[in-house]
Amino acid sequence: MADDREPGENIGAAYGTAIAGDDGPPRTDGERVVDRLGELYWQKGYGGRDAFRCLVRTILSQNTSDVASQPAHDALIERFDDGELVRALVRAPREEIVETIKSAGLYNQKANVIQRAAEHIDGAFGDEASFNNFIQSAPYEEARERLLAMNGVGPKTADCVLLFSGGRSGVFPVDTHVHRIYRRLGLVPADATHEETRTILEGRVEELDRDDEQKWRDSAIPPEKCGFGHTGSIQFGREYCSARTPACLDGVDACPLSDLCERVGIDLDTEEVRDPGAVSDGETE
Ligand code: SF4
Repeated sequence: MADDREPGENIGAAYGTAIAGDDGPPRTDGERVVDRLGELYWQKGYGGRDAFRCLVRTILSQNTSDVASQPAHDALIERFDDGELVRALVRAPREEIVETIKSAGLYNQKANVIQRAAEHIDGAFGDEASFNNFIQSAPYEEARERLLAMNGVGPKTADCVLLFSGGRSGVFPVDTHVHRIYRRLGLVPADATHEETRTILEGRVEELDRDDEQKWRDSAIPPEKCGFGHTGSIQFGREYCSARTPACLDGVDACPLSDLCERVGIDLDTEEVRDPGAVSDGETE
């Protein structure tokens, strides 16, 4: 099972700077969840990592585990980073990049996206430092649009770069773990898309195009807690709320978020686990 192949620690444990813990009682249900994750794992703020390297790292991690993508990332850096990684990747024969990143899977596609991103940055910004400066200082929407305009860069990849490089508070990247967990918790609609999940968790329900938008106002996560909320959720998805065998199947006490969870899609009696999107309105455990 894919989740079983994940390492014990993720980017949240290795990156970031510790931030102050106790800031009073939670103001929303969403904050209550990330406060619990903060107690369980870490409370960190993010930012300051090189934007192009963040972009490459996130592209390599698409549709695969860290176990598979980390060696590909390390090999790529070792082979091409001569101090000007962008230029080196622009000049590199495509097949050399493909050969170097094979362990990450989808290597032809990922090599194409990485090389085209390098070409875009080389042409539009001139060098890695200028791109980094833009990501870390441009207005949020402008930086996000610029990243999304790159071929093969989707919302999750753009948001990870904005979080880990740009240090943007209020950015909650939604990957498969986050999408699954927050729908099971009942903090976003069972049929929410990735983008709707992000919109609700970032507290922008007025931007939703749904009849029930007000219902989700209390799911907002404070901007300064979105970073560790995201990384802690991924760790929690690996350790407790996996796709096929959520911890609560062993009894509700086995999950530290049990008292905050509606268990949408989970039937504790039959041990059936369904995607929350397959569950009809109001039907839970
Ligand atoms: S109670 Fe079950 S479904 Fe809810 S967060 Fe915990 S493991 Fe996931």
